[in-house]
Amino acid sequence: MAKKIAVIGGGIVGVCSALDLQQAGHDVTLIDRKQPGRETSYGNAGVLSESSVLVINNPVLLRRLPGLMLNQSTGLRYNPLFLLKRLPWVLKFLSYCTKSHAQHASKALRALMLISIGQHKSWINEAKVSHLLRYAGWMKLFRTQKGFDGFSAEIETMAETGVKFTIYDREQIRQLEPGLAPIYEKAVLMDETCGVSSPAELTDAYIAMFIAAGGTVLKTDVTGLKPLDKGFDVIHADGALAFEEVVVAAGPWSADVAKWVGYDVPMGWERGYHMHLEPDDVPQLGRAAHDVEGGFAIAPMRQGVRITSGVELEHRDAPPNYTQIKKAVAEARKIHKMKGEIDAEPWMGRRPTLIDSLPIVGPAPRHKGLWFNFGHQHIGLSMAPGSAKLITSMIDGKAAPIDVSPYRADRFPI
Ligand SMILES: Cc1cc2nc3c(=O)[nH]c(=O)nc-3n(C[C@H](O)[C@H](O)[C@H](O)COP(=O)(O)OP(=O)(O)OC[C@H]3O[C@@H](n4cnc5c(N)ncnc54)[C@H](O)[C@@H]3O)c2cc1C
Repeated sequence: MAKKIAVIGGGIVGVCSALDLQQAGHDVTLIDRKQPGRETSYGNAGVLSESSVLVINNPVLLRRLPGLMLNQSTGLRYNPLFLLKRLPWVLKFLSYCTKSHAQHASKALRALMLISIGQHKSWINEAKVSHLLRYAGWMKLFRTQKGFDGFSAEIETMAETGVKFTIYDREQIRQLEPGLAPIYEKAVLMDETCGVSSPAELTDAYIAMFIAAGGTVLKTDVTGLKPLDKGFDVIHADGALAFEEVVVAAGPWSADVAKWVGYDVPMGWERGYHMHLEPDDVPQLGRAAHDVEGGFAIAPMRQGVRITSGVELEHRDAPPNYTQIKKAVAEARKIHKMKGEIDAEPWMGRRPTLIDSLPIVGPAPRHKGLWFNFGHQHIGLSMAPGSAKLITSMIDGKAAPIDVSPYRADRFPI
């Protein structure tokens, strides 16, 4: 039976939820205070991954911790005062650095990514934006043999979970990507990973499809949730609206929303930056690549060559600090010839991360009709359609396409 449903948050996770619920026959309103897809989902590297199976909190992180604490890596920067204030969160996050958690998470993530990519491809086709889709894999680059050896846990996990990949040596990398400086000793190409050349245009296309089919997009700031006998009043800057079911998909702001009705969600934010550079007259890259030792990703995008930074551990709302992205751009210039910077200033986003690096996708433990869909950390673009499918099947009381238990909200006390 069709239900009146609100989705709070119009990032890629909320947009996919709204679209999937609508396609299942529901009357859906998507609410965002901004134009949808203009926060974290705007500036990512566009990788539609089915291969990012090893969570960051795995045993290798503990071995690397002393080096990372020096706070000099381009891949990870932190504000020591912020980390001190968030020490309980950090310690909980580190407590998941076990082999058993890494194995559990890798199976869960792979299952969710696989159903997601299939749905992305079909929606991309339906939305008539196939020109955004790139089937060329996603590449990890290593400057040294030592760096490549440090990737062995990822390789092992990819092999265990059925990810297809190929290892390239120096000469093969030169042939595959002639626009890269010949400094790489090894590369690992995730053969079946694809990508999009504009995450924002992808979100816009999904929104256009949602509106064309009768969906409502409301631009307003949600400020409260009031439980009713059946459903909720969604209180917003311009009034209140009653819905039978509410999906919270507010990305890095989701813990704030959940707190209004009494949940204490262990949400962290891994901030990240990007900058576009004008392509030069050299062979352009065929795919997004991650220079693992350089600590940045580089992706050919419709807006230019997009350089994305690694992780900055800092308060979600603290002013941006461009040190890391400037270093990333300087490093990227050494490996690929590019012209000037296109953006007036770098873009910043906040990856929403929970203590076990798995998203919460499922019912709020103490409220019927309230659903959580957030915490997709580094791979939210990749996991959004699958997460939407899980929410839709649970709202409809149907069997979910994969096991939903790894994503339950009550897997830790909240
Ligand atoms: C540098 C970088 C590179 C990345 N690369 C990739 C990649 O290549 N592939 C990949 O899969 N993932 C990647 N990611 C991760 C991915 O971008 C995120 O996981 C994903 O965008 C999270 O989407 P979201 O919808 O949960 O959050 P968001 O996109 O942040 O959306 C949340 C929305 O909620 C709205 N909102 C919040 N609170 C309220 C409120 N009270 N009222 C109304 N609206 C509200 C916000 O305005 C926002 O639009 C990357 C991230 C970064 C930062």
